[in-house]
Amino acid sequence: DGAAWSPVMPTPVPAPRLLAHSAEMAARLGFSDADIASPGFARVFGGNALMPGMQPFAANYGGHQFGHWAGQLGDGRAISLGEVVDREGARWELQLKGAGPTPYSRRADGRAVLRSSIREFLCSEAMHHLGIPTTRALSLVGTGEAVVRDMFYDGHPREEPGAVVCRVAPSFLRFGSFELPYARGDVPLLRRLADFCIRRDFPHLGGEGEALYAAWFAEVCARTAVVVAHWMRVGFVHGVMNTDNMSILGLTIDYGPYGWIDDYDPDWTPNTTDAQGRRYRFGWQPRIAHWNLVRLAQALSPLFADTAALQAGLDRYEATFLAAERGNIAAKLGLADCRDEDVDLMRDLQALLHSAEADMTLFFRGLADVDPDAPDAPPLAGAFYDDAKRAATEPALMAWLARHGARVIADGSDAGARRAAMQAANPKFVLRNYLAQQAIDRAEAGDMGGVEELLEVMRRPYDEQPGKEAFAARRPDWARDRAGCSMLSCSS
Ligand code: AMP
Ligand code: MG
Repeated sequence: DGAAWSPVMPTPVPAPRLLAHSAEMAARLGFSDADIASPGFARVFGGNALMPGMQPFAANYGGHQFGHWAGQLGDGRAISLGEVVDREGARWELQLKGAGPTPYSRRADGRAVLRSSIREFLCSEAMHHLGIPTTRALSLVGTGEAVVRDMFYDGHPREEPGAVVCRVAPSFLRFGSFELPYARGDVPLLRRLADFCIRRDFPHLGGEGEALYAAWFAEVCARTAVVVAHWMRVGFVHGVMNTDNMSILGLTIDYGPYGWIDDYDPDWTPNTTDAQGRRYRFGWQPRIAHWNLVRLAQALSPLFADTAALQAGLDRYEATFLAAERGNIAAKLGLADCRDEDVDLMRDLQALLHSAEADMTLFFRGLADVDPDAPDAPPLAGAFYDDAKRAATEPALMAWLARHGARVIADGSDAGARRAAMQAANPKFVLRNYLAQQAIDRAEAGDMGGVEELLEVMRRPYDEQPGKEAFAARRPDWARDRAGCSMLSCSS
C-alpha cells in the first residue's frame, strides 16, 4: 500500500534461459526436473510470466549507508513474486533480483549483470551448505539483454550480459524496513510492520505489547550475533553492511561486493567502494553489526516507554556474540571448551597468521592434521603466500604449535573425534573470490560448466572430496590484485 510496498510487474526480457538452479531449493519448493527444464520455468523466473496466484510487489525501506542515514531506498531491482508454503509447512518468499524498474529504482535500470548474479547465486547456496543462515537462490536466468555498467565508476562503462536470480527466504524484511517509517514519524505503520513481522516470522514468541516487542528485538539481536560469528569463523566479508542489507531474521542477505579471506587480514575488505574508511573490513563486522542494531533500536524506540528493553536486547547481542566467538575458538582449535587462556591462544595465532601472510582456510584445516604430541609444520606447508614472511614467523609459529599441542593433550580428547570436530568447524572449501571469478569468466564466454562445478563442490564444504583439491587451493598470484578476485565494487 505505497508506504511499505508497491505492486509492480517484472519487465519482460528478450530471451530468458535457465543457466543454473539449486537442486535442493527446487526440490524443497516442489519443482520436478521436468518443471525446471520446461521453457515456462525460465519465463517465470526471468520475469516474463507469472504462475497462478503470484502478485508481484517491491518493498520499501530506508537505511544507513556507510554510517549515514540515506533516506528512502527500497527494492530498486528486486520484485517479490509471492509466497510458497512447502510440504513441510515452511513459508518461502520468491524474489527476482534484476527484474526491471520499480517505483524505488530512482534513476537506475532495475537490472543486474551476469557476473554479480552468479556471485549471488553461488554464495547463497555455498553459505547454506556451510550451515550459515542465509537467503537462498533457486535459479539463475540469463536475459539475452545487455546491461551497461561502469565496473569501477571510473568512466569505463561497458555492455555486459544481464541475468535474473530468484532469491528465496522466509522474509526479506531488513532493519531498514523499520527505519523508514520511524524516520517519517509514521508510528502506526511502524507498529503494523512490527506486528506483522512477529506474527509471520517469530510466531514462537509469547507475551504481548512491550514485552513481546522486547522479546522480538532480543531475538533479532541474538540471531545477528550468531550470523556474524559464523562469518568470522569461515572468513566471510559481507562488504556492504548497510542497515538496508541487514536481515531482520539474521540471514546473510544481499550478496554484492562480498569476499572471502585468503591470507588472514582483519583489515581486508573486498569492496573498493569502501576502500577509504574500510568500514566493512573483516575484523570490524562484529562492531558494525552492533552499530546497526543500535540504529534498529532507535527505529523501534516509539514502541517502548523507555530504553531499558532495547538496551537489554543490545546486551543480548554482546553476550551471544561472545559465547559464539568462544564456541568458534574451541571448535576451530579442537578443544572441548574455550577457557579464558584459549582466547589468548587464538588471538596470538591470529597475529601470527597475519604477519606470516598465511591462508586462513588452509591453516585451520591443516591444523587438524598436526600431531599434538610432535607438532610439526608440514601439514600447513601450502598455507603461506610469502616465503620471507613465513620464514620470519616460523619460530614463533612452531612455539605456538607446541603450546596448542600441549593444550590439546591436556584436554584429553580422542584424536579421531577431535580431528572430525575440527574439520566440521573449519571448511576445506569456501567460495574463494578467484574461483568465483574463473566460473564467471567461463560463463561470460558461454560455458556454464564452471558454475556447475563450483556449486557441486560447495555442497559439501567440510568433506575432503578427493579429486577436488584444486578448489581448495590458495589464491594464485595472478588473482592477487585482479578485478573480481580481490577488488569488487557496488556496481552490479
Ligand atoms: P545495494 O548496495 O545493492 O544494497 O543497493 C542499494 C540500493 O540501490 C537498493 O535500494 C537497491 O535496490 C538499489 N539498486 C542497486 N542497483 C540498482 C539498479 N541497477 N537498479 C535499481 N536500483 C538499484
Ligand atoms: Mg541492498
